[in-house]
Parts: sequence; structure tokens; C-alpha cells
Amino acid sequence: MDNKEKKFKLFLNKNRCGGDQCAICVSVCPTGILEIGDELNMRVAYIPRVKEGKAKYCTSCRRCEFGCPEWCIYVLEEEEEKLAEKAKI
Ligand code: SF4
Ligand code: SF4
Repeated sequence: MDNKEKKFKLFLNKNRCGGDQCAICVSVCPTGILEIGDELNMRVAYIPRVKEGKAKYCTSCRRCEFGCPEWCIYVLEEEEEKLAEKAKI
């Protein structure tokens, strides 16, 4: 999910995600913008997604990131993204 207006992105490492067997991110998101979708990953789990048209309501609070037992969903601010790009060799 790309939130250009707020200058951050929400990333999901799909194949590490426990999906519908977990769904902690869906439960802890205070704005309720996440849902379990219909895409299966390599763990044969249905992974979460941002509800259609709701990306603008993400506050980058990072509750999904801190709650995720697999560390596979995270928010990257524009500045952090630049640093990550620089760190790539
Ligand atoms: S950063 Fe916060 S508002 Fe955005 S998806 Fe994660 S829990 Fe929800
Ligand atoms: S909390 Fe993490 S592992 Fe669980 S469904 Fe969300 S992104 Fe996937």
C-alpha cells in the first residue's frame, strides 16, 4: 500500500505471513482498514490486504507492525525508504 499524501508505505512480506490463521494485524489496526483477502501465499494462508479505498486512513501507527509475530508487515517512512535504498549494494 502506497500512501503518497502521507509519505509512507505499508509493506507485507506475503510468504512469511500466517494470514487467516493469524490475522493479528487485522484485529489490532485501530482504523479497521485491514481485512483478510482472497490471495493465498506459499503457506497456503489467505493474506491480509488494505480494504479498497481505505489506504488514506492508515495513520502509520505501526500497531500492525509491532503486533505481527512474523515481522512481515511494516511501515516504511519516506526517509527510511531512502536510507534502505542507500544501504543496497
Ligand atoms: S499502521 Fe496502524 S493504521 Fe496503518 S494498517 Fe497498520 S495498524 Fe492500521
Ligand atoms: S499479523 Fe503478520 S503474520 Fe499475522 S496476518 Fe498480519 S501480517 Fe500476517
